[in-house]
Amino acid sequence: MNAVLRTEDLRALHVLPVLPYAYDALQPVISRQTVLCHYTKHHRECVVQLNALLEGTALAQLPLEALLRRTAGKAECAAIFDAAVQAWNHSFYWRCLAPHGGNRVPLALSQKIKAAFGSLDGLKGALARAAIEQFGSGWVWLVLDGAELRVRTTAARDDPLPGHVRPLLVLDVWEHAYYLDYQDRRAEYVRAVLDGLVNWEFAAANLN
Ligand code: MN
Repeated sequence: MNAVLRTEDLRALHVLPVLPYAYDALQPVISRQTVLCHYTKHHRECVVQLNALLEGTALAQLPLEALLRRTAGKAECAAIFDAAVQAWNHSFYWRCLAPHGGNRVPLALSQKIKAAFGSLDGLKGALARAAIEQFGSGWVWLVLDGAELRVRTTAARDDPLPGHVRPLLVLDVWEHAYYLDYQDRRAEYVRAVLDGLVNWEFAAANLN
């Protein structure tokens, strides 16, 4: 087999998705420097590591979500699963943010938020509390669990797509997501993102 072609084929399987806005588009809430470092170093490294781990394995041709389902809970696939989780979560995270986001919540989602949390402020409070209570690195999610919305937190190695859960929104609360801009003030970062950057239309589209 031609080694160059084989490597190219595998590298084309999992690629760093295009960032849906410019590096500086999330300012002043998230700086250009943070987005640049987070996307071109942390996120890219997840994808590079995933492709390296998959090279030459029977799992190499699976799309990312199928790969997560195939490797979840299998000790012999733990390294691949861990890299796939980080790749999937980061791709989802970028799409949850939008320049000048954080404003109108589409009706279908708004009604579910009111039913579960009383109001949008109630939901933001629940997400912010979960972000503060998450010990160490992790992710804070708004998910559809059956017919109900709930807040969920996951650590580095937790499955973002367990069978009963549909993710609507995620916040990256690893220090690399906010430390350059907020130092240790994770709560301030989360409130600023919730008030200024959340792409509620993307979250609502994930209901379907
Ligand atoms: Mn991250």
